[in-house]
Amino acid sequence: MVYFFMSKDCIFCKIVSGDLPCDKVMETENFLAFKDINGKAPGHTLVVPKKHYENFLEMDESLYKEFMDVAGEVAVKVLKEVGAESFNMLINNGRAAGQVVFHLHLHIIPRKEGDGYEID
Ligand code: AMP
Repeated sequence: MVYFFMSKDCIFCKIVSGDLPCDKVMETENFLAFKDINGKAPGHTLVVPKKHYENFLEMDESLYKEFMDVAGEVAVKVLKEVGAESFNMLINNGRAAGQVVFHLHLHIIPRKEGDGYEID
């Protein structure tokens, strides 16, 4: 088990290390994408860096490209899976912005016309 990049008691670090299960969508060297356990829409997926960063500003800039590449691939994959063409892509940074899990994650939320989901 590799613990050197983990933050104790972080739920997403435990998913990355395999200590907690997830519904995996994609994995690369530095990122893991898995379905949101309480998705706002079918296919709602989170892309997380394997290393613990609390928010986007903490993440090493060298990971920017891989982050967006994974996000794009995940979006294409889940849109196909649920038969949607639109999606929200968002990061909540900090409590006031709605962040509740303090391990950086990007939400990809497939959308359909008139689905009525409220994305905050
Ligand atoms: P945020 O408000 O941006 O911090 O979003 C945190 C997201 O993590 C929420 O949408 C939760 O449903 C999701 N979440 C929390 N625990 C888990 C888990 N064990 N597996 C998958 N998603 C989770």
